[in-house]
Formats: sequence, structure tokens, C-alpha cells
Amino acid sequence: MRVELLCTGDELVTGLITDTNSPWFEARLFELGVKVDRILLVGDVRPDITQALLEVASRADEVLVSGGLGPTMDDFTLECAAAAAGVPLVEDPRVVEWLKERYAQRNIPMNPGALRMARIPQGAEVVRNPVGSAPLVILRLGRARLFFVPGVPREYKALAEGEVLPRIRAALEKDPERVARSFRLLRTVGIPESQLDAAVAPLVPQHPRVVFGFRTHAPENHLKLMATAPSQAEADAALAAAEAASRKLFGAAIFGSDEEEYAQVVARLLTQAKATLATAESCTGGLIAQQLTAVSGASTFFMGGAVSYSEKMKMAWAGVPAAVLERHTAVSRETAVAMAEGVRAACGTTYGLSVTGYAGPTGGTLEDPVGTVYCALAAEGSPTRCERFSIMGDRDRVRLFAATSALELLRH
Ligand code: ATP
Ligand code: MG
Repeated sequence: MRVELLCTGDELVTGLITDTNSPWFEARLFELGVKVDRILLVGDVRPDITQALLEVASRADEVLVSGGLGPTMDDFTLECAAAAAGVPLVEDPRVVEWLKERYAQRNIPMNPGALRMARIPQGAEVVRNPVGSAPLVILRLGRARLFFVPGVPREYKALAEGEVLPRIRAALEKDPERVARSFRLLRTVGIPESQLDAAVAPLVPQHPRVVFGFRTHAPENHLKLMATAPSQAEADAALAAAEAASRKLFGAAIFGSDEEEYAQVVARLLTQAKATLATAESCTGGLIAQQLTAVSGASTFFMGGAVSYSEKMKMAWAGVPAAVLERHTAVSRETAVAMAEGVRAACGTTYGLSVTGYAGPTGGTLEDPVGTVYCALAAEGSPTRCERFSIMGDRDRVRLFAATSALELLRH
């Protein structure tokens, strides 16, 4: 099956917006075992769109065409489709009804321009848009089935997911060249990409149906597994075997899979343990608190945090004794421990987590150069743990890795 995507709109060819719809749809198709053959971006020029439609219709079986379905004068994709097909545009009474209902629902008057969205190439099929006005239009042209959807990402995704993919899936089932695919994304922290690659190398010949891929997504490194086989059951089995081998290799460095975010995993661990957490952050300036509070329901485990950036606030908010700061400086094992214990005592939580370090580019000492970070975890009823990290890179990178290094103390 040949699939192409055609995106229309001047904003796509003038650098105003980036086509984010296509990568999303490509990934959804790839899950079905389909690779997109081409993506075309065409500006709002009638002859160009008409020509592009004729081209894709001569090459592809399924085409998703997006943009230019709205009510404004720069929306003329269906006009071009009608021209390409050599049919007139005719007002579809069902679409008129849908539009009336939608405008009434939103309590805005429907001006005559809106009726442009009801003008459909003769012979095309229409499907109601559940989240917008312009309908999905399906038109056969040449060897292709053309699906026209609005460019607005929310509408594009709703229609592509709900209406286009099921139709493509049904067509695939009849495709004799069909292969089945199965995917897993294993998310790791704490292993550099080069080490990940070297460690995985021996698995490659043992899993001939699986392609191992890598992606850096700082501070995480992802291992992507894709199994290809004649049937779904075989693809799933090949994937399961490769996943098990990978998990055995990397153990707890794999914190989650697929869509699972790091902060969500930490949140789940704390919630399951019925534990609470307070933080005292210096060089990360609240990054840890920001990441944890991005998880909905964080209030069940996250009590709060201090951005104790100056020495004064390390004393005032994290209860660090002045003598510790004087004797050991603000970036030291002793200060990190005092911050973690101090914030835990102040908040009455199960855990107190702290970070202090030199994010750079200036600062640091001979023993503790830029990139040195101390993280400490104080816990109810056990000795406080502290670890020293040497993080390479610029200020942003040091801060990002420092936050994850601190959270890693909670996971291990
Ligand atoms: P509308 O009813 O809003 O006019 P439309 O089908 O005519 O919908 P466009 O006018 O082409 O679609 O695009 C609407 C908005 O959707 C644009 O402002 C643009 O920001 C966004 N958009 C269009 N195409 C894409 C794309 N390929 N990727 C991401 N965003 C897009
Ligand atoms: Mg538009």
C-alpha cells in the first residue's frame, strides 16, 4: 500500500509554522506497519494544489490531504479537488445541517461564508467533524482514495484517528503485502547512549526480527524496539523476547516504557508507598518541584519545596546550620545532607530531597569544579544518603541532570 500526505497552506512554506500533523500521523501509520512514501507541502496557490492532487492520485493508494477546508478566502482545497476530478462543487444539505447545529451550539451567528464549508466535490463522501466545523471529505481520484481534513491539529488528529485510520486499517487487511509490526520504547536514565549501544550489540543477532534503535532525550536515553513479522502474534512474540532480554541487561536503569514519563514513575512510586516528599533545591532552582507538580495529583505526595539558592535561605528555609556552611561551603556533602534533613524536619515528610552544586559556567573549586553536584535524601528512620555527581555540559544540562540525579535517589 502506498500512502502519501499532502499538506496545504502558505504558513507551511513560509516558515511560519512547522508541519507537526504529519509526523504524528506517520507514527500512527507505522504502528500499523505502513511507511509513508512521500509528504508534500504546498502553498495556497490553486494550480499548485490541483496539480499536487493529480500527482498524488496517480501514485498513491491512500492520501491524507490537510488544510484549506475552512470558511476563509484562503481555503480552497476542495475547489482544487473538484477541478482535479473534473466535477462541480455542490452544496451538501447534511453538511449545512451540521454547520447550523455547530454554530448554534457555540452560540455564534453563522455568516454566509460558513456555507463554503458545505460545498463538496460531487460524488464525494462526507463524515461529520466531532470537534470542528469542516467535515472529513473522502474522494476517489485516479488510483487513490483522498481524505481531506482540516489543518488545525486538534481537528486533524480527531478525524485522522477516528475516521481515516480505521478505513486504512480495513484496506490493509486485504493487502497481500502486509507485514505486522510491534513496538516498545524502553526509557532509561543513567546510562550514556554509547554504553547503551555497546551493551545492546550482542542482542542484535539473537533477535533477527527486531530492529534496535536509540534516541537521546536528555537526561533520558531511549531504546526503541521494533519487531516485524508476517503475523501480529509473531511480531508480538519477537518483541516480548527482545524486551525481556533488554530488561535483564539494564535492570532498574529502565524506569518506564512507551508513554510513561519519568516524573510519573517517581510519582507512582511515592504514591504507592504512601510516602511524602519535600525538596530543598539550590542549583536546580525549583526544577524538581516543577517536574513533580507537572504530574496531576502531585499534592498526594509532594508537600512543597524551598528554592534555597543563597546561603541565607539555606539557613532560613532548609535549616542548614551556619557552622556547616562556614566549614564546608554551600556546595558540599555536609550542606546537601543538612538541606535534606532540614527540609524534611520542617515539612514533616517521609523524605527530604536536596540538591546543591555548581551549574556553571563560572564558579566551582579545584576539588569541586563546575558540574559538581551533591544530592541528598533524608528518610524517616534511616541514615541520610548523599551522592556526588560530576555532570558535563552547559548550565542547562547540568541543572537538568542534577534534578534527575536527585530524583534517582528516590528510585534506588
Ligand atoms: P480552518 O477552519 O481553521 O481554516 P483549515 O482546514 O482551513 O482550517 P488551515 O487554515 O490550513 O486549515 O490551518 C488552520 C490552522 O492549523 C493554521 O493556523 C495552522 O496553524 C494549523 N496547521 C495547518 N496545517 C498544519 C500542519 N500540517 N501542522 C501543524 N499545524 C497546522
Ligand atoms: Mg483555513
